[in-house]
Amino acid sequence: MRKPMKAVQLLEPAKVELTEVPVPEIGPSEVLLKVRAAGVCQTDVHFRHLEEEAVPRGTVLGHEIAGEVASAGAAVTGWEPGDAAVVYPCWGCGTCRMCLAGRHNMCRRTGGRFISPPTPGVSRDGGMAEYVAVPAWALVPIGDLDPALAAPLADAALVPYHSVHAVKDLLVPGSTAVIIGAGGLGQMAAQILRALTSAQVIALDVNDDALTAVRDEVDATLRSDSSTVVTDVLALTGGYGAEVVFDFVGRDSTMALAAGLVAPGGAIRFIGLSNGVYRFTAGSGVTDLPWEVSVTRPYSGTIGELADIVALAHAGKIRPQVRRFPFDQALKALEELEAGRIRGRAVLTVAPSPTGTEV
Ligand SMILES: [Zn+2]
Ligand SMILES: [Zn+2]
Repeated sequence: MRKPMKAVQLLEPAKVELTEVPVPEIGPSEVLLKVRAAGVCQTDVHFRHLEEEAVPRGTVLGHEIAGEVASAGAAVTGWEPGDAAVVYPCWGCGTCRMCLAGRHNMCRRTGGRFISPPTPGVSRDGGMAEYVAVPAWALVPIGDLDPALAAPLADAALVPYHSVHAVKDLLVPGSTAVIIGAGGLGQMAAQILRALTSAQVIALDVNDDALTAVRDEVDATLRSDSSTVVTDVLALTGGYGAEVVFDFVGRDSTMALAAGLVAPGGAIRFIGLSNGVYRFTAGSGVTDLPWEVSVTRPYSGTIGELADIVALAHAGKIRPQVRRFPFDQALKALEELEAGRIRGRAVLTVAPSPTGTEV
């Protein structure tokens, strides 16, 4: 009989509860991670209301996970009980050509054109629990980094890092990056842009509190709903526009704004998932998208990028803003996030076990 543990489970569509489940068993190439911190994401809030069977019934939520190795499978080398790690969340096959190129987030065997590779807390049991089974290769060591700060690195920092990293060659001295949406991911993007580039950074939001929170990290803040926002940003960029625009919102209005601000030869990264629609005209005389702009939809990131982010966090160059909730208050954390009362990231914390390795 396996020991029970506390977990946050999606019992059926739109039903998330704090429950007890057995401590997971691990395969030979997995480790049992004692969870110390699990980030709470808007995706988790979304699952609380999703009526479709998008997530298998009974899945333990939590895709931002940091903890300590409790035990390791027989084939695992290099990890010992007590070692601290953050979990890379794209559990690709490891052998397809995208995985071989380090792009597990685009795995061709476990994913599909519109299907993501296996993800803890989404299609595998995740980290909102006392323990989680993790493929050993997906662990990134964090040393003495606070687990509550390390957990959000796996998603809230990985997504903006992946987005910035891919366009850093455009962000030369004298260039401009615009962040639309200065919430949790937008704030991380500002810190990452500071750490990786010398671009001028302009943050736009409809919320003055969000702009105030990011003011020290950027060169300028502007209301994105101001009637002069386009002319104001163009004035700050010599009339040319921004080399890169990151849209962390993804509504019709922000997507159109991104196109209105980007420079010729620049890039737009549509990251926010608010079901906005963006269309452009493939004509020569039109002005809705400058020449040679690249547009992509970044998904997660690579495990190498997660290791980069851990290094930035160790160096103090990025620091997620977190609000800690004891594990038993998981549902309250979800409610607070849904009500818009969380600045930065909500993180569930689990106290270290007295013995460290009791399982
Ligand atoms: Zn997420
Ligand atoms: Zn693969």
